Amino acid sequence: MAVLFLSTAARAQVFREAFAHALPDVAFHVGEAPDPLRVRWIVTWNAPDDLATRYPNLRQIFSIGAGVDQFDLGLIPAHVGVVRMLEPGIGAQMGEYATLATLAMHRDLPRYLARQQVAEWAPGENLPAPRRRVGVMGLGQLGTLVIDRLRPFGFDLAGYSRSIRAIDGVSCFTDLAPFLARTDILICLLPLTMQTRGILDAALFAKLPRGARLVHLGRGAQLVAADLIAALDQGQLSAAMLDVTDPEPLPADHPLWRHPSVILTPHIASQTSAAEGAAHVIAGVSADLAGRPVAGLIDRRRGY
Ligand code: NDP
Repeated sequence: MAVLFLSTAARAQVFREAFAHALPDVAFHVGEAPDPLRVRWIVTWNAPDDLATRYPNLRQIFSIGAGVDQFDLGLIPAHVGVVRMLEPGIGAQMGEYATLATLAMHRDLPRYLARQQVAEWAPGENLPAPRRRVGVMGLGQLGTLVIDRLRPFGFDLAGYSRSIRAIDGVSCFTDLAPFLARTDILICLLPLTMQTRGILDAALFAKLPRGARLVHLGRGAQLVAADLIAALDQGQLSAAMLDVTDPEPLPADHPLWRHPSVILTPHIASQTSAAEGAAHVIAGVSADLAGRPVAGLIDRRRGY
């Protein structure tokens, strides 16, 4: 039985040592497996095109990052489990970033950064946090954690998800329009699926209160960048902080780089730690060997 690892050499080193220690009977191959028939598990960001024919005994494919949207699920045989990365550091870092971004939007940081460029000393009025309505799209692992991180500030919190959720002190919606109508700072933490591609568009922005702010942490392809720029220029939105774009990296001449109301970071909200990632994959392989459910297995019909 073998694991095939398809990622950077630095990560491979960490995974190799962790596997040798925890599962010495499982062979660990990097880049290529001498006998593809023995490969039961693949750890990768991109799925090999010939996955179905080359690895007929494959049981699970583990994503090296948090999402699985980079996989074409149609090319992965139905019996192969698709497993997303679950490691505690991803949530911890996302909690930090979402707090930073929400406070930046709440305290008008883009406006003050733009004024600093022209040496303009012009204080605006601060809004108390309980009067700022924050809405989180996606109430999964990360969305719920972000809500917990934002609680101590006293924001008026709401969340939106596909199935109904109950979270103490948070208004939970499955209907998008009423959720948007009460949201001054919108945080997107949805997975990229057929349903969420392009969801952050002009129609959605129009349903937010005028002057609302956007924090986008999901995936770049969920945002229609031209619609965001138009909404900012027309005042429908007043600011945005984006960690994900489409494409990544964003071309140097893209208007989002220089828009005065946008703060942009290069997809760094959360990064997978190799050691924690290896522990997650080892736990998954061990569970599979013991006939137990593998943590992080996605529902392939939903796409997340
Ligand atoms: P989860 O799968 O745990 O949660 C997804 C949430 O989104 C669920 O609440 C789900 O609803 C909801 N959802 C999915 N589709 C829809 C829809 N069509 N309409 C309404 N709600 C929907 O994911 P995570 O919280 O772990 O991660 C979310 C995403 O964050 C990842 O997929 C990834 O794209 C992104 N991410 C970004 C990072 C970065 O560095 N910027 C780092 C890590 C992740 P329900 O509860 O009903 O299932």
